[in-house]
Amino acid sequence: MKTFSIGGVHPAENKLSAASPIREAALPKQAVFSMFQHIGAPAKPLVKKGDEVKVGTLLAEAGGFVSAPIYSSVSGKVSKVDVALDASGTRRMAVYVDVEGDEWEESIDRSTTLVKLSDRPELDSKAIIEKVKNAGIVGMGGATFPCHVKLSPPPGCKAECVIINAVECEPYLTADHRLMLEHPEEILVGLQLIMKAVDVKKGYIGIENNKPDAIKLMTEKAKGYEGIEIVPLKVKYPQGGEKQLIDAVIGRQVPAPPAIPINVGAVVQNVGTAFAIYQAVMKNKPLFDRIITVTGKSVKQPSNLLARLGTPFQQLIDECGGLPEDTGKIIGGGPMMGKALLSLDVPMTKGSSGLLIMNNKEARRAEPNPCIRCAKCVSACPMGLEPYLLSKMSAKEDWEGAEKNDITSCIECGSCQFTCPSNRPLLDMIRVGKTTVMGIIKSRAAAKS
Ligand code: SF4
Ligand code: SF4
Repeated sequence: MKTFSIGGVHPAENKLSAASPIREAALPKQAVFSMFQHIGAPAKPLVKKGDEVKVGTLLAEAGGFVSAPIYSSVSGKVSKVDVALDASGTRRMAVYVDVEGDEWEESIDRSTTLVKLSDRPELDSKAIIEKVKNAGIVGMGGATFPCHVKLSPPPGCKAECVIINAVECEPYLTADHRLMLEHPEEILVGLQLIMKAVDVKKGYIGIENNKPDAIKLMTEKAKGYEGIEIVPLKVKYPQGGEKQLIDAVIGRQVPAPPAIPINVGAVVQNVGTAFAIYQAVMKNKPLFDRIITVTGKSVKQPSNLLARLGTPFQQLIDECGGLPEDTGKIIGGGPMMGKALLSLDVPMTKGSSGLLIMNNKEARRAEPNPCIRCAKCVSACPMGLEPYLLSKMSAKEDWEGAEKNDITSCIECGSCQFTCPSNRPLLDMIRVGKTTVMGIIKSRAAAKS
């Protein structure tokens, strides 16, 4: 069975919520919409205190080409435009809406009828990309890169295929798995739309073989969609990394940065993004909700919730039985790449794929011991880096050395830290080094221009 060629690890899967059908979360009393829900320039608010909004009303416009607009997920009145705490622990500009009722913009098609590509022959590449851009769609796997940018290859680059990332290799998370089981055809039409947008005839959906029900269903349904192939993949973390997925599915290696997937002819989108694209183009529904997994060993009801953006995390946890008494740490995302949350008074955003509540035992970090030079971290690194060396250089603030040793290629997957028998905080150190080196590279480029 296919998989990527370098490194990788096998953390315990703990897919506790895999059998829980998606259920709709209750509306919040107040929804808070951060202007920083994507990579790139922040969105610019278009509303002010006292404005009435509906579900699907535009709240903020994109702040540039690499940016995305923000839509209201609720109906009610704007109570303020002010800073709010986000998942990174930073106070950033946001729009607050006090919720009244649940009135939707009439332009949104709320029916569940499947709209096929053949029903909309007038849709060409330009029209699809424009709709995706206007709907505020970003990478739903957590990367939050504005989707229309990836659908517009730079001059000289030509897409050859689209690969849908349905790997969901992070332990615990099951939102993508449930989405495939409950909305297979919408995903397939979404993929067709992406294929049409970038003008290719071949589309793949990569799914790890710990989701046999999704592989079976998607394979059956894909028979009715020309050029689409379901690719079962051997379970290995971090197969959901773009470069690892491209290697696993079509056997091509993306060179080190600044090379990107399109340089080897691939456009990669998450399965949740394909679904959101279907909704935007075929149902005229901007991105204002998403599926989030709320889970953990002590959580009463591990769940997959369809929740409106702007809903506070606390409310989502309450809907799954409340915060367990033995809570040690709460992670936004999965255990490998997610980040610890400082507060639950933080609103859900476009990139919120999961909330993982770790109990005290799991949250406890083992004491780090000296490096024993076993090289396990090197074998585990899917990017072919030397994690022990990069972490050492970061600790010594040797930024030149870190840059020379490709620290910017690190995808922050955590495989090195996971595998280290001495419990070295490798990822923590490498993250600090990578951020610093990227800052240095940016300033150097700015000084040159
Ligand atoms: S976190 Fe970075 S250095 Fe560590 S294994 Fe992943 S890619 Fe390699
Ligand atoms: S895995 Fe840990 S102990 Fe082994 S070489 Fe890497 S940092 Fe050192």
